[in-house]
Amino acid sequence: SKDIRKLDTDVDKMRIRRKDSEDLKVKENVFDETTLKALYDLARKGVIESLGGSISTGKEANVFLAEGKDKNVALKIYRISSSTFNSMDEYISGDPRFSNIRHKKKDIIYAWTKKEYRNLMRARECGIATPRPIDTHKNILAMEFIGEGDKPYPLLKEVKINEQSAQMIFDTIIHYLEILYNEAKLVHGDLSEYNILLNPSTLEPYLIDMGQSVTLEHPSANDFLKRDIRNLARHFKKYGIQPDEEELLRIITEK
Ligand code: ADP
Ligand code: MN
Repeated sequence: SKDIRKLDTDVDKMRIRRKDSEDLKVKENVFDETTLKALYDLARKGVIESLGGSISTGKEANVFLAEGKDKNVALKIYRISSSTFNSMDEYISGDPRFSNIRHKKKDIIYAWTKKEYRNLMRARECGIATPRPIDTHKNILAMEFIGEGDKPYPLLKEVKINEQSAQMIFDTIIHYLEILYNEAKLVHGDLSEYNILLNPSTLEPYLIDMGQSVTLEHPSANDFLKRDIRNLARHFKKYGIQPDEEELLRIITEK
């Protein structure tokens, strides 16, 4: 439609790179009309000035590099039409009886995006190293880019470290979990070597991906924490670190 064409021009004005066709394919998938509009709003607000390449394509979200005023920004874009819903969408769109189902689905995604923003904010305010959340708009979370130049820091999973460094990193993460629990009153809920970035020079860990993090009142908070601890213990075992998981749970929760 005409609207889409106008948005396309707007996005062009944002100097979206089109050199990488693979990249473009990802973008076509992600950038439905709502997302294009939301991106444009963020550009108009000055949160981003141009869009860079794709950093990650996950189950529910894509992460892109973007340029902010004088710094890189990471954009986590939750997909509005994802997997299972995609095939239904064909039948639902255009049928007025389903218009509020469609709205509900969007509302849930927007709420989820805001939740991740707030969780990151809460964790950071308590001194935990996470990306600083910059803005949230519809299905897009803009946050500090954690990396060097245009290259994101590697995942904990990807780095080769010695046993001594591993112990240091492990201790820092456990310390963060203590703060997260006792001060931010949150449980990460999806902690593993896949959701921790590592500054390769200082070996400082950053906790990321906090959309699913829950407050302590959540009925499954303690089970999530146990699982987070189990994942960590499993990963660090190969460095000769063999923590007593029960004891870790006590250390974290009985402050
Ligand atoms: P998902 O829900 O898809 O797992 P994540 O929040 O874990 O989403 O992000 C996916 C990937 O994107 C991460 O593994 C990391 O490589 C990259 N990433 C996420 N946030 C940032 C950030 N703030 N800075 C740099 N890279 C990031
Ligand atoms: Mn993740």
